[in-house]
Amino acid sequence: MKKISSLKISISGVRGIIGESLTPQLAAAFAQAFGTYIGGGPVIVGQDARPSGTMLKQAVISGLLAVGCQPVDVGICPIPSFLFLTKESKSSGGIAVTASHNPKEWNGMKFISRDGLYLTPHQTEEFLDIYHQGEFYFVEPERYKGLKTESNPAEPHLKKLLSYFDVDRIRGKKFKVAVDCSNGAGAVLAPRLLEALGCEPIFIHCLPDGAFAHDPEPLPENIVEICRTVREGKADVGFVQDADADRLAVVSEKGELLGEESTLALAAQYVLGKTPGPVVCNLSTTQAIDDIAGRFGAPVVRTKIGEINVVERILAMEPRPAIGGEGNGGVIVPDIHPCRDSFAAMCVILEYMAASGKRVSALQKSLPQYFMIKEKVSGSAEQAYRLINLLRKKYEGKGRIELLDGLKVRMNDHWIHVRPSNTEPIIRVIAEAKSREKAKAAIRRLKREISALQRKI
Ligand code: MG
Repeated sequence: MKKISSLKISISGVRGIIGESLTPQLAAAFAQAFGTYIGGGPVIVGQDARPSGTMLKQAVISGLLAVGCQPVDVGICPIPSFLFLTKESKSSGGIAVTASHNPKEWNGMKFISRDGLYLTPHQTEEFLDIYHQGEFYFVEPERYKGLKTESNPAEPHLKKLLSYFDVDRIRGKKFKVAVDCSNGAGAVLAPRLLEALGCEPIFIHCLPDGAFAHDPEPLPENIVEICRTVREGKADVGFVQDADADRLAVVSEKGELLGEESTLALAAQYVLGKTPGPVVCNLSTTQAIDDIAGRFGAPVVRTKIGEINVVERILAMEPRPAIGGEGNGGVIVPDIHPCRDSFAAMCVILEYMAASGKRVSALQKSLPQYFMIKEKVSGSAEQAYRLINLLRKKYEGKGRIELLDGLKVRMNDHWIHVRPSNTEPIIRVIAEAKSREKAKAAIRRLKREISALQRKI
């Protein structure tokens, strides 16, 4: 196997390991290219809470100033609030310095259009052309803009959430809510949102210092503490946000983690109950979504992995779907803003609890039960595609093959999905079945097949 560079340039933006593949010089160059691409104007610049954020953000600001943009530094800001602000403030675009759930050695940049959306694959291509050509537009000295700051960047997002959801109904319940902000950007808004919803919050890891008390990916092994907090504090529900606050995991009142696939399933079950209509989600999202949508006679539209793919499909549909998202805890309420939003997800779950009068464990039981196992093996995108080609031949005739993104095979009682990650040099390997044993057996078999094939390529 050849050495894999840690720099990833994809539709999800740029990510790399600080000092190894991602440097301030590189960040400034990307910002210059972006400023050139959008043709100047105000650009919202923010960061998540990881320690290298300020260093990288200053480089981004320099790059933007050099090409005549007006950077607006919003400091640490949750990504859904950041996207909402970019649109609401009528800016030319935004650059968010973040590496989402990657470990703290990583950082990156996400590039955002004037609509408050991530660049589409087509826009990314145009922007990267400018970057690779290195022909940036430098302004004359007298046309340099100063730096602006915005100290309350989440305010417009908060207002929108409070005007959309049934605040009185939630307030009436005085829910006790435990929240783990993963020492991330979610801590900027979560306390104010829960206060406005009349909840009694218990916070852990809510200092947005990027110290990452646990690995910021909301997986079961990282979430032991919140479960204990819910039990000991007798909370009605527990929430875990990832470091940039676009994804949400839910813990029941019994202190049991629901599994990240349940977040969208719960949200879809509630929203479709109110307003039946299509659901848009990615190919790896739980089969439970199809079962839930089926109960309401609603179609499910599946897309490639990557938030922008789900969002693009949502925006292309008329009437606009009431709910969409990704199974990894990424809920999209298009009427709020077409992006994954852990705050909107919290509001949906709290409203569901209030409207149904049911506890979270009971709501969880009412969902179709599936077990998903997500694993990863190391390998570049190129290795992944060679592997997928070989696997496809192996699975021909054994199930329904989908090649929209990697290889997904739906068999009678389970499905498998193998695809290269958009953000890291790894190959994602997923299986889902009606029982844990079946899912485990499927993933074991698949990984055995993969390691046998990897020896050949
Ligand atoms: Mg994230």
